[in-house]
Amino acid sequence: MKAAPLFAVYGASGCGRSVMPLARSQLQRQGVLPTRLVFVDDRPEADALNGQRVQRYEEFLETSASTRHAVLAIADSAVRERLADRCRASGVQPWTLMANNAMVMDEVTLGEGAILSPFITLGSNVRIGRHFHANLYSYVEHDCVIGDFVTFAPGVKCNGNVVVEDHAYVGTGAVIKQGTPGQPLVIGRGAVIGMGAVVTRHVPAGTTVAGNPARPLARG
Ligand code: UDP
Repeated sequence: MKAAPLFAVYGASGCGRSVMPLARSQLQRQGVLPTRLVFVDDRPEADALNGQRVQRYEEFLETSASTRHAVLAIADSAVRERLADRCRASGVQPWTLMANNAMVMDEVTLGEGAILSPFITLGSNVRIGRHFHANLYSYVEHDCVIGDFVTFAPGVKCNGNVVVEDHAYVGTGAVIKQGTPGQPLVIGRGAVIGMGAVVTRHVPAGTTVAGNPARPLARG
């Protein structure tokens, strides 16, 4: 008999534990047995966590399966990119998770491996790259363009016509002002937006900003 597909939440820490229930309910809706879902972690602290087996990556690859799928549940975007390459090299397919109450409006393009947590809204005509993490209660309004490996902490309010470049991190409760058609507000590659920041203008690549209005942090 052919083995069934095998699914993993890669990362068995805070992010992974928040993502596992989404994974479980998504598979349940598809009629997949709960035993075909595991945590994968390179430094496992136990054999099981919150009722789910924890495997090392090598073990995950050795477990009999027709296909393997992993969602990268690790907040650090550089780690996500490294693990995405690793998974691709070993034939593990990117897996997208969407909470059943996530709201996705019209003409949204969502890249592979995204995590849309509960109470997320993606507005119309939004384009999103690979391995986007949208945590609880965040929204991305109309006409935004989000790059690859972007991370939104909970409660991010990203208003319309904003461009968020690859590897940017937006902290809890940050508010990003709306851009205009043809003149989007741009959050540069690898920028970090502090918790609660109110972003009213462009943020250059690699810059950390905080406060209201958000300003670059002085280097210590
Ligand atoms: N991890 C891993 N492989 C890596 C890097 C990290 O399996 O190459 C795991 C690490 O062992 C830990 C989790 O990913 O269990 C990251 O947890 P952390 O608490 O640092 O971050 P979070 O869960 O908030 O993303």
